[in-house]
This record gives sequence, C-alpha cells and structure tokens, in this order.
Amino acid sequence: MSVGVVQGIGVSAGSAFGPVVKVGAAVRPPADEPPADNGAEKVADALEAVATELERRALTALDTAASILQATAMLARDPGLLAAATTEVEGGAGPATALDRAVQSYIDQFTALGGYFAERATDLRDVGDRAIAHVLGVPAPGVPTLTEECVLVAVDLAPAETATLDRAKVLGIVTQEGGRTSHTAILAAQMAIPAVVKVAGATDLEDGVHVLVDGDTGEVHVEPTPELVRELRQRSERRAAALESTTGPGRTSDGRGVQLLANIGGVEDAEAAGREDLEGVGLFRTEFVFLSASTAPTVEEQTDIYRKVFAPFEGRKVVVRTLDAGADKPLAFADLGAEENPALGRRGLRLSAERPDLLDAQLEALSIAASETGADVQVMAPMVAIVEEAAWFARRVRENGLPKVGVMIEVPGAAMRSAHLMEEVDFGSLGTNDLAQYTLAADRMQGELADLLDPWQPALLDVIATACHGAAINGKPMGVCGESGGDPLLALVLVGLGVSSLSMAPSKVPMVRFALAQHTFAQCQRLAHLARSARTAYDAREAVLAEASPALREVI
Ligand code: PEP
Ligand code: MG
Repeated sequence: MSVGVVQGIGVSAGSAFGPVVKVGAAVRPPADEPPADNGAEKVADALEAVATELERRALTALDTAASILQATAMLARDPGLLAAATTEVEGGAGPATALDRAVQSYIDQFTALGGYFAERATDLRDVGDRAIAHVLGVPAPGVPTLTEECVLVAVDLAPAETATLDRAKVLGIVTQEGGRTSHTAILAAQMAIPAVVKVAGATDLEDGVHVLVDGDTGEVHVEPTPELVRELRQRSERRAAALESTTGPGRTSDGRGVQLLANIGGVEDAEAAGREDLEGVGLFRTEFVFLSASTAPTVEEQTDIYRKVFAPFEGRKVVVRTLDAGADKPLAFADLGAEENPALGRRGLRLSAERPDLLDAQLEALSIAASETGADVQVMAPMVAIVEEAAWFARRVRENGLPKVGVMIEVPGAAMRSAHLMEEVDFGSLGTNDLAQYTLAADRMQGELADLLDPWQPALLDVIATACHGAAINGKPMGVCGESGGDPLLALVLVGLGVSSLSMAPSKVPMVRFALAQHTFAQCQRLAHLARSARTAYDAREAVLAEASPALREVI
C-alpha cells in the first residue's frame, strides 16, 4: 500500500494520526522440527501456560473483554485440543508441529461450521500461535511493548490483544480483516479508540509509516499531507466543542424526546456507563456475563451481579435482555448440540423455551435484584419471531413480578407483524444487527458481506418503518439497540421513522445527542423519507448527508 487513501469500514468513531506499529507476526514451527523426548509434556505445558496467561489478563480487563479472554482461555484448556496434539506427538511430530497441526484441524472444523464457530477461528489461531511460541521459547506474537503513541495495524486483532491494549499509546486501530460486529469493532468502540477494519493490504504498511485513521468515514490515509492532518484535527476540535455544547436528555431541536441509552455487557460496563451523561441502559447483554461459565449460574450468583448492574442507575431505566445464547454466543451450560445453521437454529428465546429452567432462574434473580434497587428495570427477549412467543414470554416475566416487558425486533417476520406482537408487550427494541443479517440473508460475521449488512440498506429501513408503525398503532415505544443507533446520521433517520430511544456504546452518545439537537422532528421525518426513497444504501446516506444541518456536516 503506497501513499494515498484506502477505504475500509469505520467501526469506532474519531480520527487518529500516528506512526504504524505492526502487530507481531506469529512464528511458524521449523519445517524439520525433530520429535522431542518429552513432547507430550511440552505440548500440555504450552497450552496450560497460554490459558493461565489469558486468565491473568482477564483479571484486569473490563467485562466484555474479560469474558472474551476467559472464553479464549477455555479454548486453550479444551481437552480435545490437547488430545489431538498429543496424538500428533505420538505419531512422531515435534511439539510445535503437533500443536500447529492440532490447531489447524480444529480451525478447519470450525470454519466449515460457519457463523460463530468460524469467528472463533481467530481465537484458536491465537491460542495456537502463543502455544507454539512457548514451545520454541520465543516471545508470544502480538502487540509489542509500545514506547510511543501509534496506530496499530494487524491482520485482525485477537480478542486477547484488543482487550488489553494500552489506551494511552494506541491512538487508532487498522485491521485487514474483521467486520462491523467483530470482536475488534465492539471492543474498540467500547474503549473509544478510532478504528477501521477490512482495509485491503493493511499489513503491507511498513512500521513507522504515518497514517491518518478516520473511524467515521472508514478511510485510512497513508502519509497524508499536512493540510489533511490539519483538517481532520480541526474537525476533531470542532467536534469536541460541538459535543460540549449539548448535554442532558436526547431531544430534537423542537423538543421531541429521544432517550439516549448505553449498551453494556456486565458490572464494570454498568459502573462506567452510570457515570456518563445518559438516560440509562437500553441493552444489557446478560449472556456476556456467562460466556465462560461451564455450569448454569445460580439464582444467588445472578442476583448479586444484577444488583451491581442496577445500582449505578438509581432513578434511570435498565433494559435487561434475557440470555441470548446460541449461534454467535453459545453458552456451555445451555448447549443444545451442533446445528447446520446456528443463526437460524434454536437460539435466543427459542433456547429459553426448551430450557425454561434457565429463564425462570434468571427472571427470579432479576426480580429480586430489581426490588432492591431504585432502577426502573425492564426485561426483554431476544430473537422473538411470532406473537405466541411474545405472549409466552410476557406472561412469564409478569408472573415473576417484573412489570415492564418487551421484545427485541430482530427477525423480519416479527417486524412485519409488529402491530400484533406489540399488543402483548410494553415496548419493542430493534436489534438492527440481526435484523440486517436476516433481512439481507447475509451472515453478520462475514466481513465480505459488509455491503449487504450496511444498516443504510433501504430494505432494512422499510422493515424498521413497518416495525415502528406497528408500535405506534399500539401507542407503545420502539427503540433501537443495534449498532446502527450509534451512527449520528442514521439516528436521525431512525427517529424520523418513529424510534423513541437509541442505545449504543456510551462513547457514541454525545455525537448522536448533538445530531438530534440540530434537527426538528419534521426534518428527521423528511430525512427518513429521503433515505427510504433511495435506490441503494450509498444513495440513502448521501441523500441524508446532503440535507443534514451544516452544523452536523461540519463535525461528522
Ligand atoms: C442486534 O442484533 O442488533 C442486537 C442488539 O443484539 P446482538 O448484537 O447482541 O445480537
Ligand atoms: Mg441480536
């Protein structure tokens, strides 16, 4: 990649300028590695050392990051992986070669399964590379010790790497692979580090080359002109000044309230979000807390966690999503076995229906914790498809003494029948990540399908409009808690379509608040009309950008 600009996908807003530091490449096993006397022991030691190191890092990481690190450590402790490597050793392979082959065969199996499993291939590769480095006695691959501020460039950052980045030194992140909902994207946004993923040829960049990363537009400028650097810096300053000018509850310039809420994954996220200027939590992904649990958490254990999550939100609302297990987020204690198409399988609420014991324990714990705090606790179900599911869930939640119940709208069928679904519940929340995946029939884990998954796709906007209409008929609120809610331009469109709350990574709230404050509700409706009238996702965004207020255009 030479001087110029390359387009990727911006996944964490803001811009960064600095020298490239490349994430260390993994060391391959020597081609002629001889068998070792105590090869099996070396293999076992290496995997154990990797697991221990990942767990050590988990101790100091934040919730989402800690869960991912623990889950990766569990991969290193997988008895099947050790057995496969030991078999290779017994067949005469050297220990590093044995580890490499065992990991590769696991990766092949995971990749063939697709979806969540394919994404875990990155985690497995990381485990394998670390174990090989341990056996060979060389430094673990990954982020080198950083001595100066820099932009990290990698093929894809392993969760273990993203989770423990030195925020003070890492100005920005660029990866060659990944997608909008990859681990790197979610963690970078959570850490408020500007990031661009899916940048072709990123790893051809040399260490020390200066790049300008624009996490809003997805552009990476290589050796940019001083004018361009100045321009983006000025934009950042304008942005900071603009953001400071608007505080408090979200509202349009003519006073229509749009609640601005946080997406969180556990206690530490809750504590951090609780300190921010926002109106509560719009999505607590409870499954994130239990990603690494091997047995179902007890009512007491859960109550303790929920109490701590609710405490910072005294007087504010907290929307808790019941376990969204399966597909991209399998839980060991709620495993219903392998499936051909996990994203279309027994996941989310479908899994709760098969394991009502898990749902009941969770609702009991939520009810106890809610009664002990001053937070306005509301409970919603993931992956609701039909009216009967909504009614079943609502009954169970209310039987547990939890008064406000909602459903996520992330299946097109549910969106189309929202008028009937919303009769059963108190509110709806659009999960636009999954809604995009199912509307455009494109696996959300596949970076290659990013264009189809673009939340500006007019088809997705049509589906959202139908869902909002169904809520309006019933006089019930409809929010958004997918990533699209954190895009300031798209937020205007969503509000114009009738969405009444937006939930996002807390770092995205100020910009969305600013965008709303620059437009009347009627203008939002007009922008929504423009977006839906467009032929393509690109045209939709361009049309909205052209009509957005100059004050907003100056800062995005
Ligand atoms: C969504 O699908 O948009 C959503 C918010 O849920 P998750 O990303 O956890 O599937
Ligand atoms: Mg979802």
